[in-house]
Amino acid sequence: MIRSFRSCLGPIAFVRRMERVTRPVDARSLAAIRQRWNDLPERVRTPGQTLGRVGVGCEGTHGVFPRCNFACKPCYHSADANRVRVDGAHTVAQVEAQMAMFEAERSNFAHAQLIGGEVSLLEPEDHAAALLAMRRHGREPMSFTHGDFDYEYLRDLAVDQTGRRRFARISFAGHFDATMVGRRGLRRTSDEAEIDPFRARFCAMFGRLRREQGVRSYLAHNMTVTPANVSQIPGVIRRCHRMGFSLFSFQPAAHVGDERRWNDDFRSLDADAVWAQIEAGAGARLPYHLFEVGDTRCNRSAWGLYLGDRWFSLLDESDAKDLVVRDATLRYFSGFALTGPGHLVAIRIVRLIAAHPQIVPLALGWAGRMTRRVGVLSLLRHRPRLVTFVMHRFMHAEDVAPAWEGLERGEMSDVPRIRETQERLQACSYAMAHPETGRIVPACVQHSVLDPAENRQLLQLLPISRSAKRRADP
Ligand code: SF4
Repeated sequence: MIRSFRSCLGPIAFVRRMERVTRPVDARSLAAIRQRWNDLPERVRTPGQTLGRVGVGCEGTHGVFPRCNFACKPCYHSADANRVRVDGAHTVAQVEAQMAMFEAERSNFAHAQLIGGEVSLLEPEDHAAALLAMRRHGREPMSFTHGDFDYEYLRDLAVDQTGRRRFARISFAGHFDATMVGRRGLRRTSDEAEIDPFRARFCAMFGRLRREQGVRSYLAHNMTVTPANVSQIPGVIRRCHRMGFSLFSFQPAAHVGDERRWNDDFRSLDADAVWAQIEAGAGARLPYHLFEVGDTRCNRSAWGLYLGDRWFSLLDESDAKDLVVRDATLRYFSGFALTGPGHLVAIRIVRLIAAHPQIVPLALGWAGRMTRRVGVLSLLRHRPRLVTFVMHRFMHAEDVAPAWEGLERGEMSDVPRIRETQERLQACSYAMAHPETGRIVPACVQHSVLDPAENRQLLQLLPISRSAKRRADP
């Protein structure tokens, strides 16, 4: 790739371009990150805060393909979403516009989710075009899916009609849990274990893609948590951590979206209780203050690795030397451009180390402590697998609406529940762009406040005929 790149440019232009694309830290992105830190509420400017340090936060699409062919309970989409036709041209144009706005208004680099209804209802060509648009704007995309598609779809997405790879690596988040209704071969179930073969099939498709087409993947497992399946979390993790997922994300259900799909009291879900179930599944304490992503009432994350069936945190929060490593990571990797092809990221790391050689002894010291913690024998016996655990708690629409109205007026509420909602919105780590108004809003605001009107408009623009709906529904 580098050779063909060089032949298109003159040697000097090539060197200049390589210098620019392998710069570890992009000045404009760094300025945006610093601004993000300045804008964060004081209470979340913690030693482990990653927002405003290593990045500006995550981004997602909206209104680009609202329709889904499942009937999950709950569902975050408004009642009209499933009546909007999936239209590839609309999707690609909207993705392009939203990503261009993110690039112009925020950092040059970020992770972004291609999310809506069900992404695999897009034709592979349109799906690929949307991902390429995201990449063009410096976004590292992840496609969100229920995973109920065939290998041929995945192949046609990753490889074009001439057999040429479109991507060296793709990222997918597969949604699998017992709140879902409509999967082929298992229309509904209340038993998470019954879904395991479908989880395994999903991962196997990506294994085949790597073997046959040389396309690597990063897979996340998403699970909506309700009072009915919360106790099944440990089993899901224990049975599935070897399947090929690099991230397990759990979303306690919120009263948002289509009210007809609310079948339980989601307010009864306690954050600590859900996190305790995730810890039970991991068989380890999950230290979520080491690295925080916004407000910990919204997000908890723990980065670590599995050796066999045991999970270890990458850092020990009780070890002062590991905390020095954490602080150094946040300092030296501030604004680091993690997106892009692997060889460019590798060169950026080398340049970063050359600029800050003190990273080397810190890294060596950490490697020694980590080896002692996990045990040399265990390292020899097992291949380490990096696995991250996440809990993301969307908020209830009836709290978000008044909280957002107050913020728009510049007022903080005296009502504790609304005040908490406002504080969380101010530290939001998951943004959605509105090029038509020039606003970037928290995803909670999108789903709780803006989605219903947006989908009504889309319904006018992209109506779905009854016969087409009958053909497409399971
Ligand atoms: S405000 Fe909502 S979308 Fe933003 S991080 Fe919190 S839960 Fe997520």
